[in-house]
Amino acid sequence: MTWSQWQVPPFVSSIFFILGVFTLYWVTFNWLDSWCHRHHVGIADDVINGWYGVIYMLVFVFSMQTPILGQASAWEFMNFQLLAVIFCAYFLNIHISYYLFPPIILAYMIFNQSLGYWQSWGHAITLVAFFIAMNWIRRWHHNQRYAWLAYMGVAIPFGGLLWLWMKFKFDFSWQTFQEEWLYLVIFEMLLYVYVDMITHDGEQKIRLARLASHDTLTATGNFSAYTSDAEFYFKESLQSGRPLAMVMFDIDHFKQVNDTYGHSAGDAVLQQVATTVKRVLKRTDPKIKFYRTGGEEFNLLFPGYDAQQAKVVATAIFDAINQLTVHTEEQTIQVTLSMGVSTVVATDESPMDFYNRVDQNLYYSKQHGRHQITVA
Ligand code: GH3
Ligand code: MG
Ligand code: MG
Repeated sequence: MTWSQWQVPPFVSSIFFILGVFTLYWVTFNWLDSWCHRHHVGIADDVINGWYGVIYMLVFVFSMQTPILGQASAWEFMNFQLLAVIFCAYFLNIHISYYLFPPIILAYMIFNQSLGYWQSWGHAITLVAFFIAMNWIRRWHHNQRYAWLAYMGVAIPFGGLLWLWMKFKFDFSWQTFQEEWLYLVIFEMLLYVYVDMITHDGEQKIRLARLASHDTLTATGNFSAYTSDAEFYFKESLQSGRPLAMVMFDIDHFKQVNDTYGHSAGDAVLQQVATTVKRVLKRTDPKIKFYRTGGEEFNLLFPGYDAQQAKVVATAIFDAINQLTVHTEEQTIQVTLSMGVSTVVATDESPMDFYNRVDQNLYYSKQHGRHQITVA
């Protein structure tokens, strides 16, 4: 149609079609990903990427193939299908257990009405080998300089072999075989360059987003992340009635550490305190959120915890810091914590009311000799 009406050769329109399919994937994936982040859905980005990618490609392949099923031209969209396979195997790096291949092949061959053709069996087995080879190349050679060579080194011969099976099945000319294989090679190259550009862009975005929400020194959430999470969990707690606790702690006499040992020793203490807290959280409950909200002040949010449950974890942190000895080049430094603990109550109108009560409890600990936990 594009040729007869707009004078655009089919090869050119297929390039834009393919780039469009992948662009639409990224646009919708980014939307889905940010939706999950906004709604605090605890699914890792790569899990969303994998599942959504496979579903998207399946819909794409099946919806293209359905109208031409059983026809003499049923091979026409094979290049698009192969690109979908490459995308899942190489770029999304989806791993399929070996025992799942036979049922998948069988289902596709029944759908494609090709169970009775020996060439289709050859094609299916080659396709599985292609998928595994693409997975393998990705895994072992992806970060190497020659990665693109390895990619093309597998993609070109497999593409030729797969088209050879189709040539035998549909008996089209050698010229068509050569053309289709050549188109496939060009598409494969384009896909590599295009995905590489997009992922580079995506990685930059992830890096910036991480910088905006994390404290660089201690690799914990920063004040901005704390504010938005506190707002979210506070509202959620009021709406659902699920308890929400907060722990705030401050390192005792930290100024003295800086004054006595220097600021870099102080930085090392901050880092080791944060690492120790993270270790305790990993052991107890990784869902507890941890932020550096000030110089040597840290906050923890406990969705689903009441004050007494939060106090148990706070005590574990308190004890772990008591045991901590920070070794610098010349000295060994020990620090203690003062802590405040509280939960959301019905009279809290904003996260600030909640925060202020925790802060007052921390202040109480400081005023009454430091190195203690106040729950109220
Ligand atoms: P208190 O027991 O009452 O908390 O006493 P303190 O000395 O810990 O409290 P104060 O607020 O007087 O001092 C906090 C110090 O934390 C002051 C500041 O120099 C230091 N500080 C803040 N941020 C950093 C940082 O990123 N690195 C280092 N090394 N020190 C920091
Ligand atoms: Mg302090
Ligand atoms: Mg302080």
